[in-house]
Amino acid sequence: PAGAVPVQRARRAAAPLANCEEWGGETGTAVRHLLFMSVIIPSLILPTIWNRLQHLKALKARRQQDRLPLRIGILGCMAERLKEEILHREKLVDIVAGPDAYRDLPRLLAVAESGQQAANVLLSLDETYADILPVQTSAGGTTAFVSIMRGCDNMCSYCIVPFTRGRERSRPIASILQEVKMLSDQGVKEVTLLGQNVNSFQDMSEVQFQSAAAPVLSRGFSTVYKAKPGGLRFAHLLDQVSRIDPEMRIRFTSPHPKDFPDEVLQLIQERHNICKQLHLPAQSGSTRVLEAMRRGYTREAYLELVHHVRDSIPGVSLSSDFIAGFCGETEEDHQQTVSLLREVRYNVGFLFAYSMRQKTRAYHRLQDDVPVDVKQRRLQELIAVFREEAARANEAMVGQSQLVLVEGPSKRSASELCGRNDGNIKVIFPDAEIKDAAGCKALVRAQPGDYVLVKVTSASSQTLKGVPLCRTTLACSTA
Ligand code: SF4
Repeated sequence: PAGAVPVQRARRAAAPLANCEEWGGETGTAVRHLLFMSVIIPSLILPTIWNRLQHLKALKARRQQDRLPLRIGILGCMAERLKEEILHREKLVDIVAGPDAYRDLPRLLAVAESGQQAANVLLSLDETYADILPVQTSAGGTTAFVSIMRGCDNMCSYCIVPFTRGRERSRPIASILQEVKMLSDQGVKEVTLLGQNVNSFQDMSEVQFQSAAAPVLSRGFSTVYKAKPGGLRFAHLLDQVSRIDPEMRIRFTSPHPKDFPDEVLQLIQERHNICKQLHLPAQSGSTRVLEAMRRGYTREAYLELVHHVRDSIPGVSLSSDFIAGFCGETEEDHQQTVSLLREVRYNVGFLFAYSMRQKTRAYHRLQDDVPVDVKQRRLQELIAVFREEAARANEAMVGQSQLVLVEGPSKRSASELCGRNDGNIKVIFPDAEIKDAAGCKALVRAQPGDYVLVKVTSASSQTLKGVPLCRTTLACSTA
């Protein structure tokens, strides 16, 4: 997963560009602009990126000779973070656009066409790209991402997001519902609501949404900022989105564990098409490290939340993020993280070695004092423990029937299909003729976008394998 995450993030970040043709881009046979979307780039791989850009130098010179000039642009977080360096480095790059400047691209492209460098990395207090449709969909068109909020007010000490994406702002609920309805009409079967703190959603766009009520936080959690009262909150949005299409699965990522009030948990438990899968990013199992990270909770509060979530949503699948080797992390702290992984037994995990980022609070106030080899060793230990526990958690599903949304052929074998269960775990099964639970007597072959009931026969830490029982519907299978 560690390799896939940045690619997924870049794809999601590029979603507002999906119809740039409509706002002034152009189509044609000769590529005139190469625009690179960047997410947060660890300092460690910056040299690789500069090298790759250097490879474009010859191409650019050749195109100049052929009088077909090629303009190169860097968009996204790297652009925001390294604007000066990008523009001055051998003048290779023509356009630099930060994550809030995509609407300005037609102007930036026009400036670049005139032979000058163009840049806009201003962060906005209200840009949500609310009216930019459509969103990115998967190749098969069965799943889609819908951005519902941007930015973050939390200021965790290791994180650069508040500096590259700005303050939290939420998209008006009406435009989100319109987009999900459009995706449902297109036959999309699974929508993932996206945001840096997706469950901190707070639509304040209408006067009647204002009220004095302050947001309710998960028990034992706190914020470093003063929470804004009022607005339509995540539970309201989730309720409305899940009513649009009973055959459409709803997921959301990435949430902050502080924003799981009971009404959100209850809604997830009650509504058949909201997936029983929660991402609860822990980052560390040590209260001392969590404090240094400014996460706003202790190990105990986090564990209490995990138990409360499991009581409220029986069978919920849990995932998490962890950082190995944060500033000042001792062997004892590391063991606390190992024991948290064992105690919670996550189904999915995203684990990284700490890499210090400029501009962050940790960069200014803490020391990146865990040696690289120690970080790597601790990371490997965390991965090994996570895999062992995930394999156990997944093995508990052997013998059970799981509802799988088919995505397409399995990568390894054309005679197998691949999809995901409600808990977002990959399920592989033979592409065979099966019964249709809707009553039609003829046998059918499952297609991408179909729901298939699969009996699980084996499990690993990342995948389930099984035999298909029948094609069904989301509503029928959960009735
Ligand atoms: Fe915000 Fe998440 Fe970054 Fe913390 S880790 S500052 S919550 S984006």
